[in-house]
Amino acid sequence: MKPPAFEYFAPSSLDQALALRAQYGSESAVLAGGQSLIPLLNLRLTFPSVVIDLGRVAELAGIRSADGGLSIGAMTRQREAEHSDLVQRRSPLLVKALRQIGHPTIRNRGTIGGSLAHADPAAELPAVAAALGAELVARSTRGERTIPVGNFFDGFLTTSLQPDELLVEVRLPAVKGGSSFKEVARRHGDFALVGVAAVVALNQGTIEDARLAFLGAGPTPVRATEAEATLRGARPHEAAFAEAAEKAAVRLEPSSDIHATADYRRRVAAVLARRALLEATS
Ligand SMILES: Cc1cc2nc3c(=O)[nH]c(=O)nc-3n(C[C@H](O)[C@H](O)[C@H](O)COP(=O)(O)OP(=O)(O)OC[C@H]3O[C@@H](n4cnc5c(N)ncnc54)[C@H](O)[C@@H]3O)c2cc1C
Repeated sequence: MKPPAFEYFAPSSLDQALALRAQYGSESAVLAGGQSLIPLLNLRLTFPSVVIDLGRVAELAGIRSADGGLSIGAMTRQREAEHSDLVQRRSPLLVKALRQIGHPTIRNRGTIGGSLAHADPAAELPAVAAALGAELVARSTRGERTIPVGNFFDGFLTTSLQPDELLVEVRLPAVKGGSSFKEVARRHGDFALVGVAAVVALNQGTIEDARLAFLGAGPTPVRATEAEATLRGARPHEAAFAEAAEKAAVRLEPSSDIHATADYRRRVAAVLARRALLEATS
C-alpha cells in the first residue's frame, strides 16, 4: 500500500526541526529511522499532513560519556550503539537488548530515540530504559525538559511528549552490577511475546541492588519494584530469585492476543525473570 499524501520537510538543524514542530504540532509526524512510522503510514494507520525527517539533523546523533553513564542522541542508529565500545563498557544491558531488535537491516536504520518515542510495550529499549532509570530529554521552541522514565511512557504507543516537542537525548545513569536480557519470541527477530531486563549488584555476598523491568507485560514497560525490594539484602540464591520472579509475574497485566494468552505470558515472564536474575549474578 501507499501512504496518504503529506508534505515533507528535511530540516538540516535542530532549530529548524523545532520550528517546524512548533508550526505543525499534532498534524506532524517525526521521521527518524522509519522502521515503525513507514509501515504505519503505508497501512494508513496514521495520517499526518506533515512529515519532518530528522535524518539530516546531525546534532541529534552521537554517544557520549556522561557522569559515568551515557548520553545518547535520539537519532543515534541502534546498530551504532550495538557496536559501540563505550556502550559495551558502560551499559552492557543495552547491547544485549539491542541484539534482540528485529534484524541487522532494521537496526541499521532504526534509532534509539525512535524506539523510545514509539513506545511499543513489546519493544526492548523501553524496558531497558525503565530498568536503568533513564532520563529522556525533550526539547521544543519553548525550552528543554528532562523526563524521568517513570513519567515518560503513558500507555500503548503513547508518551508524555507534547505535539511540539522532540525527544533529543536519552541519559542512562551508571548502574552497578551484572545484567541479563531475556525474551521469548515466536521467531528470532520477531517482537517479543514477553521479556525481561535484569540488573543485580552484589556487595560482600548479598544483593545490594536488583532491578527487573518487563516488556510485553502491559501497556507500558513494567518495573517490578516490590519484587526488587524483596531481593535487597538477600543472598543471591536460586530460591530467592524464583520467589522474586513469581512475585513480579503475578502482578503483571499482559494482554491476550492471537500469539499468546495473558496467563502464558505471565508464566513465561516468571521463568525468564528467574533465569535473568541468575545470569546477572553468574
Ligand atoms: C520487520 C521489523 C521488525 C521489528 N522488530 C522489532 C523488535 O523486535 N523490537 C523493537 O523494539 N522494534 C522492532 N522494530 C521496530 C524498530 O525497532 C524501529 O526502529 C523502532 O520501533 C522505531 O524507531 P525508528 O527510528 O525507526 O522510528 P520511526 O519509525 O521513524 O518513528 C517511530 C515513532 O516515533 C516518533 N519519533 C521518532 N523519533 C522521534 C523523536 N526524536 N522525537 C519525537 N518523536 C519521534 C515518530 O513520529 C513515530 O511516531 C521492527 C521493525 C520492523 C520493520
